[in-house]
Amino acid sequence: MTKTDIKNFTLEKLLDYVVELGQPKYRAEQIFNWLYNHLSFDFNEMENLPKSLRMELSQKTNVQTLNIVRKLDSPLIGTTKFLFSTKDNNEIEAVIIPEGKRTTLCLSTQVGCPLNCKFCATGLMGFTRNLTVGEIVDQYLLTAREYGKNTITNIVFMGMGEPLLNYRATIEAIENFTNELTKGLSRNRITVSTAGIPDKIRALADSGLRVKIALSLHSPFNDVRNKLMPVNKKYSIEENIEALKYYARKTRTRITFEYLMLDGINDRDEDVQGLAHLTSQLPSKINLIPFNSIAHMNPGGFAASLSPSPIERISEFADKLRAKNITVMLRNTQGNDIAAACGQLAIQKKL
Ligand code: SF4
Repeated sequence: MTKTDIKNFTLEKLLDYVVELGQPKYRAEQIFNWLYNHLSFDFNEMENLPKSLRMELSQKTNVQTLNIVRKLDSPLIGTTKFLFSTKDNNEIEAVIIPEGKRTTLCLSTQVGCPLNCKFCATGLMGFTRNLTVGEIVDQYLLTAREYGKNTITNIVFMGMGEPLLNYRATIEAIENFTNELTKGLSRNRITVSTAGIPDKIRALADSGLRVKIALSLHSPFNDVRNKLMPVNKKYSIEENIEALKYYARKTRTRITFEYLMLDGINDRDEDVQGLAHLTSQLPSKINLIPFNSIAHMNPGGFAASLSPSPIERISEFADKLRAKNITVMLRNTQGNDIAAACGQLAIQKKL
């Protein structure tokens, strides 16, 4: 008998499931509470459930979808990368990033990624499949169990994969993270980072979830962005900006633009002008991110020509944007020494 992954359920679906098992609805809340508050992944520990139900759940459902294969600490800046294996022997990863008072967990939503961005190690892996809701939430629950539930203060969907191409599972995972019953994370501490899928940006705006959204922009010009991110040939910068304006209006949130600093590609004065023109059209801020080189992956073609902008140029770039009243943050490389850029640990294992 194929077992059901119980973590694939939102609370609403779990209610339906326990009713199917002939149980009262409040059993769903008890189970949810064990999973998300007590971080218990063993039905035998769920002592307020009748023994017969615990046995039935053990027979019919899986309580854990992932296993931790490897943990890699970055001694330089304190990040920790988790490599997980799925039941079908794929590998995915999540990264814990402490920054002052907050600790952010960066989650994956797909095994590999179909979008093939030229600066990204995950893009080089190709695409295998979408993750299930259970596999997304288990990245959080397993790391929360290691660190303590209240340690993780923020979640970003910025690991392997494009979350808006796994839309349903991503929003159901967010529903579980933010469920009031579990005293979960607040919505403004969750960020969905996308390469830009306009219809799904609008759908997320209409979902009522009101999480934050970040666009991986990396160039204000379509011809350059087409080379960096092939998805731009399908969904142009302008289409994404229109969708993001809708998102900002509908959710009253500020949009984040992620911008990897690439030497000679997107760090010129004309890029400052173009970026200021685009981002001043909506409430927004820009994160400038030093590029984690992927040279060790031996990329070919255009990807092979990418190298990090010098630190001084990143600072000047930020100053020029600030002079135009644009809000700019300079981000860390977040673990170059443990390959914290998305996909790199998993792909190193494969090579
Ligand atoms: S940057 Fe994100 S969207 Fe682009 S290939 Fe990598 S994982 Fe996919």
